[in-house]
Amino acid sequence: MIAVSKAEGTSRRQFLLGVSTLSVCALLKPGGALAQQARTRIILLGTKGGPTLATRTGRSNASTLLLINDVPYLVDCGYGVSRQLINAGVSLDRLRYIFITHEHSDHDLEYGALFYNAWTTRQSPRVDTYGPVGLRRMTRHFFNYMKFDIDTRIVDEGIGDPRKLLTVHEFNRSGLVMQNQDVKVTSLRVRHPPITQSYAYRFDAKDRSVVISGDTAYAPELAEFAKGADVLIHEAMYLPALEKLIQQNPGAKRLREHLLASHTSTEDVGRIAAQAGVKTLVLSHLVPGDDPSITDQQWTEGVMKNFTGRIVVGKDLMEI
Ligand SMILES: [Zn+2]
Ligand SMILES: [Zn+2]
Repeated sequence: MIAVSKAEGTSRRQFLLGVSTLSVCALLKPGGALAQQARTRIILLGTKGGPTLATRTGRSNASTLLLINDVPYLVDCGYGVSRQLINAGVSLDRLRYIFITHEHSDHDLEYGALFYNAWTTRQSPRVDTYGPVGLRRMTRHFFNYMKFDIDTRIVDEGIGDPRKLLTVHEFNRSGLVMQNQDVKVTSLRVRHPPITQSYAYRFDAKDRSVVISGDTAYAPELAEFAKGADVLIHEAMYLPALEKLIQQNPGAKRLREHLLASHTSTEDVGRIAAQAGVKTLVLSHLVPGDDPSITDQQWTEGVMKNFTGRIVVGKDLMEI
C-alpha cells in the first residue's frame, strides 16, 4: 500500500478540482455548448414529387424541415405536412416560418391547413410566410374558404383571430428573403415552366449552409447559388422509370413534355452538385415517387456519373 501524505492528498484534490473546472469552462465557452445548441438539423418530411398521393411507397408530398437553434423553418407544404411535422416530433404550436417555392399543389396544398391546425392548438403561434407573388392572394382565399368556421370559433370558443397571426412576405425576384440572428435566407429564381415564379432557397446558418432546389429543370445558375453549401437538397427524376409511367398515362405526350422541360434528371442533378462543390447531395421530390421497384442504387447511378461526393436518397422523416 502506498502512503499518501496529507499535503500530497490536498494538492491532488486541488488538481482534480482544477481539471473539472477547466472542463466546465470548455463546455460553456462560446463555440462549445452554445454551438451545439445552435446545430442546424434537416428533416425530410415529404420526398415525393407530383400532386398524386403515394399508394405504394408511402412517401408524403414535398416538404422539408430545418430546425435552426430548435426553431422550425419549413420549406413547402405538400399534403400531409401537418401530420409529418408531428411525426418528426415538432408540435404544431411551434410553427414559426414557412417558405413556399412555387404554386404547385404538391408544394402548397396544405399551406393554409397547416397554419389552421397550428391555430387550433390554442397556443396561437405567430407565423411569417415567405414565397413568390401570389402567396398573399392564396392566403386570403384560404381564410375566405374557412371564414364561417373561423368566425364561429372566435365567437363561440373565444380564441384569437388567426388572420392577425399570419404575416405574408412576397417577392418576385431572386435575393435576400429574410435574416435574423440565426440564419440568412436567400432565394434564386429557377426554371420551372410554365410557372415563372419558382424559387430555390439557401439557408446560411452559423454551423451549416443548406440549399433546397425547389422544382427546376437543369439550371447552371443553381450550381452558382449553391456554391460551397454543406447540403444540397435537389429534386430528381429517374428517366427509365418515367418512360414506363408515361406509357400508362392517357395524357402521356403532354406529361412527358412537361416533365422533361421543368424537372432535372439524376445525371443533371449530379452535374449541378459537382459544379456547386457541395459536400452532401440529397435527392428528394422524387419523380416517379410512387414506384417501389426503383432501388437506391438506381436513383444514384446517374448522379454518380458526374458527382463523387456523398449522395443520400431521401426518405420521409430521414434526418441529415
Ligand atoms: Zn413539385
Ligand atoms: Zn412544380
